Amino acid sequence: MSEIRVEPYRVRRIGAHSHIRGLGLDENGKAIMVADGLVGQAEARQAAGIVVKMIKEGRISGRGILLVGPPGTGKTALAVAIARELGEDTPFVIMSGSEIYSSEKRKTEILMEAVRKALGVRLTERRLVYEGVVKNIVIRRAKHPLVPYLTVPREAKITLATRDEEVTLTVPEEVTQQIVELGVRKGDVIWIDAQTGRVHREGRVREFQDVKTYDVETRRIVETPSGPVKKEKEIVNVLTLHDLDMYVAAQRSLVSIFGFTLEREIPSEARKQVDETVRKWIEDKKAAIVPGVLFIDDAHMLDIEAFSFLTRAMESEFAPILILATNRGVARIRGTDMESPHGMPLDLLDRLLIIPTRPYNADEIREIIKIRAQEEEVELDSKALEKLVEIGSKYSLRYAVQLMEPARILAEQRGESKIHVEDVEEARKLFIDISTSVEYLREYEKLFLK
Ligand code: ATP
Repeated sequence: MSEIRVEPYRVRRIGAHSHIRGLGLDENGKAIMVADGLVGQAEARQAAGIVVKMIKEGRISGRGILLVGPPGTGKTALAVAIARELGEDTPFVIMSGSEIYSSEKRKTEILMEAVRKALGVRLTERRLVYEGVVKNIVIRRAKHPLVPYLTVPREAKITLATRDEEVTLTVPEEVTQQIVELGVRKGDVIWIDAQTGRVHREGRVREFQDVKTYDVETRRIVETPSGPVKKEKEIVNVLTLHDLDMYVAAQRSLVSIFGFTLEREIPSEARKQVDETVRKWIEDKKAAIVPGVLFIDDAHMLDIEAFSFLTRAMESEFAPILILATNRGVARIRGTDMESPHGMPLDLLDRLLIIPTRPYNADEIREIIKIRAQEEEVELDSKALEKLVEIGSKYSLRYAVQLMEPARILAEQRGESKIHVEDVEEARKLFIDISTSVEYLREYEKLFLK
């Protein structure tokens, strides 16, 4: 059987904030100009670093954060960075204040769901697994049933070894699929759940004899496992309270016809049952709560009912870290006739630590665009870069960032892999910025009124 190198699927990671890995602070908590994907905004990053410390030391309860600054100044970026600093298992939920207005669900239900999605439960279980270093891997592919010139992975033969034992497993299609998706190759330390077939990659060893190797990608020390390949292992799973709610609600809906499936809301009894179970797991030391981040952008769009819900939620036993963001000054609190700073009630504002973000200068915009270009795997020539910096300074950073992908496609259509200044200019004509679009409609209205 010939050996096949497993190629991981290439996924273009182009989520708007995928370049952010952390707050990029030095050991004294000061911001490094360009680090962890973040640029400038030094004071806000330093403040966010203090918040992370407070969270880690458990001294944030009952308080939240409010990020205040003009559009596109990195409020969402900072919230993402805080979540990254808290660890990869930390749930991060992002929503806009206006999402609470829905015809299908009550406002408090939408918020309750968001709160519970931002609360992780770390479960420790003992399971039977196959664990070892991949010494050899052979994937058998078969013809695609519909497209004859395509092949699909069908089965894999994997030799897993520890320092004491070596076993060759033949794994079925579902497991093979995961192995291909994870891009498992020789030297990887993996485990396969003997019951569910879930595959997990722990890290890599450079040489099989290595006792300890530092893995740059995952920033972990990887040890060659010792002992038998098949063994019991403590496995940590992170679920959210919402995952558990859904599970319990689905089970209950089998019994009650007018239950979960018709209402599309999770009954409060289901949530109570989940809370009780989780409390019991915590008591038995089987689980721990991982408070995540609930980020609400355009928080001035929330109304008085939503604000009081959030104030209460911050005080409850299981509470996520609430980060609100707004670009409004004094505004009316929705659902009332009262005006208030940032359109928020004072009793909530009293509990928030406020961090301002400020507009970027041209150098900062240039650095951010360069990072985004790298992330989106687009090549800009120097004039195109300067054009985007100019657009970012004049209109908005977000607009400049958004033009990059259309410009790449325009360049591609010209048979070029690099974006030139004319691609940026053309993209700008095809996709206008907000102030131009408002201006355009105003002109259009004038024509109609004549
Ligand atoms: P809005 O008020 O309109 O919601 P915002 O303040 O949340 O805007 P972001 O969405 O965070 O702004 O920023 C726009 C884009 O620029 C995003 O892709 C973001 O990741 C990136 N960005 C913003 N600030 C920085 C920064 N300091 N370093 C690196 N990237 C940044």
